[in-house]
Amino acid sequence: MSRREPVMPITASDAEIAAALEQAELPPLLATLVHLTGDASLLRDDLALDPLLMGEPQGGWSEAQQAAVRALALEVLRRHREAGSPEPALPSRDLLTRIMSFTTGTPDMEAYVPLLEEELAIAGDDLRGPQWRRQEVAAEVDFRVAIIGAGMSGLLAAYRLEQAGIPFVILEKNADVGGTWLENTYPGCRVDNPNHNYSYSFAQRHDWPLHYSTQDVLQGYFARFADEQDLRRHVRFETEVCSATWSETERRWTLAVRSAEGEERIEANAVISAVGQLNRPLMPDIAGIDEFEGPTFHSARWREDVELAGKRVAVIGTGASAMQFVPIVAEEADELLVFQRTPAWLVPTPDYHDEVPEGLKWLYAHVPFYSEWNRFWIFWRMGDGALAMAEVDPAWRGREDTVSEMNAFARELNVAYLSEEFGDDPELLDKVIPRYPLAAKRMIRDNGVWARTLKRPSVKLMTEGIERITSRGVVCGRGVEHAVDVIIYGTGFQASRFLAPMRITGRGGVDLHERWHGDDARAYLGVAVPGFPNFFMLYGPNTNIVVNGSIVYFSECGVRYILDCLRLLLEERAGGLVVRAEVHDAFNESVDEKNRAMAWGASRVNSWYKNSRGRSAQNWPFTLREYWQRTRQGDAADYELRGGRPRSAAGGTLGCGRRRGARWVRRSRCTRPGRAPR
Ligand code: NAP
Repeated sequence: MSRREPVMPITASDAEIAAALEQAELPPLLATLVHLTGDASLLRDDLALDPLLMGEPQGGWSEAQQAAVRALALEVLRRHREAGSPEPALPSRDLLTRIMSFTTGTPDMEAYVPLLEEELAIAGDDLRGPQWRRQEVAAEVDFRVAIIGAGMSGLLAAYRLEQAGIPFVILEKNADVGGTWLENTYPGCRVDNPNHNYSYSFAQRHDWPLHYSTQDVLQGYFARFADEQDLRRHVRFETEVCSATWSETERRWTLAVRSAEGEERIEANAVISAVGQLNRPLMPDIAGIDEFEGPTFHSARWREDVELAGKRVAVIGTGASAMQFVPIVAEEADELLVFQRTPAWLVPTPDYHDEVPEGLKWLYAHVPFYSEWNRFWIFWRMGDGALAMAEVDPAWRGREDTVSEMNAFARELNVAYLSEEFGDDPELLDKVIPRYPLAAKRMIRDNGVWARTLKRPSVKLMTEGIERITSRGVVCGRGVEHAVDVIIYGTGFQASRFLAPMRITGRGGVDLHERWHGDDARAYLGVAVPGFPNFFMLYGPNTNIVVNGSIVYFSECGVRYILDCLRLLLEERAGGLVVRAEVHDAFNESVDEKNRAMAWGASRVNSWYKNSRGRSAQNWPFTLREYWQRTRQGDAADYELRGGRPRSAAGGTLGCGRRRGARWVRRSRCTRPGRAPR
């Protein structure tokens, strides 16, 4: 599948092009101009980008610099039009490196070039797909995979398995695809990573209606993907997986599932769990929570049937979900009490709710590779380009609520924003300024709506701790009861309880949650766990990203890796593949060490980024590139491959093959033909 959406030839007049350029995102446009022309002299010294200002609008360029880039662009696009809008030549690696270094303000970007070639699909191909098919590597082997979940990751895994010719079934507890985008229907729900980045690399679209799509648009994107790729025929909807049990002798998994038809068992040679980290709502541990007599619900189980107009409403929590629905609830409710335990840092995002302007859409649709360079621009400045700000500098002797000079600098910018927004109400300002380092908790995008909402006469920000809930309302402060009609919980998810409530039983009858001592989940690359052969996870332990990269990217890396592990398994005609304990342990030590050296690991502030032991079982502390690098290829040396060909998941041993013995054997490091070793 070619992933690039085709662009149309330019026929617009100079005036029309100039008008579109007024709405352009300029740093990625300059990169595109060099790509189009092959002319590196456009990367002028007077247009150099400052990495510290990358988060500012237009990368911090002055009006004069912006005007200069628009003038260059008009000239280049005019010539492109006169030449008949030809497909640009492939840039050399050297040129790509120069464009990337310039665009990121980072001298040596050479190591990112192969990643960029995938992200931009320079040659037009979907390079993350399997470059092999089961029929080529193990045609005689009957092998079947069960995917748990039909959200963003599960659909992706399905698509890749289909490409590799591996039969699979998707088991989905809901009645439709979409996962989190199906379940979270609260008003105001939207993505906080721009869609040009929060989308599959191989299924790009130029015409996103909004920079940050609302829930219905994203649900539509994933549903359409499922339709276009004909994936629904593989999904068993309203079928919940209760348990999965590995059989050492049969070398396959048995999944116990529950549906309207009752309970049933499904056999599979391998399992891919794609259930997400933020899936099961968390109700807070507040005394009296069941005593309240009015309607109450969690943000992820929004009740359309509960009328909020004319009511006194309490919202508990001020995380990412609440900060999206509170402004809308405030418009309806007669009175709204917002109970905040810990304020969030706000990321100023003026276009957060805006439609993509027509001029920008036109540029995406007509200028070759603009949409792709824009994706890279987002990828960088919201990902690896921003990570240093979250790193703890052990020599830092600044304020306690900062972790480095860069973190302190970012804090100043953010405090300035809060002061601008709330400065006319000093009491409120004091309540919303966080007392912990930036990036220790999830930062929330804002375009001024939070201050406007909290300043409404009908809204009150409550910061005294909640004592209890009564039949009539919420008691806080010094025993004062605040009577309300409805309570809405924006209290997040059971993020540390990976894979709950499923029961996963591996080799020797070991229970996965017992192995994890409850919520201390660990895995190799977030994917594999020792003792659990042929069991893989997407968005598993330590694959959440804090500085706002895209989880879609992580899932694409994870799926590629899992597919490559399956290739190893099939090529070796092995029955089971299980990660070696020492590889898993060494990996986890390095992750823990690095997490402790990040703002979210060092800070003691409340957050779902840590489990009950204070360890971050959620977050990936390294660069996005690091995960890509580590997951490009399954390495046989990291795994034990058990002899004996896979047995048919339909029952019995397949075919004519002789068993290679029942030992767990260590394979030597092998590389795929035609691919460079890591
Ligand atoms: P969350 O970030 O975990 O926020 C939960 C909120 O409830 C926090 O304010 C928390 O306070 C509060 N809370 C929990 N227990 C409480 C108690 N006993 N008493 C008082 N307050 C209590 O959950 P979320 O807002 O649903 O977001 C979870 C994650 O989902 C986000 O971080 C993000 O990754 C994802 N998400 C993304 C988007 C998006 O992309 N736009 C939107 C929504 C969610 P403390 O802070 O003090 O713990």
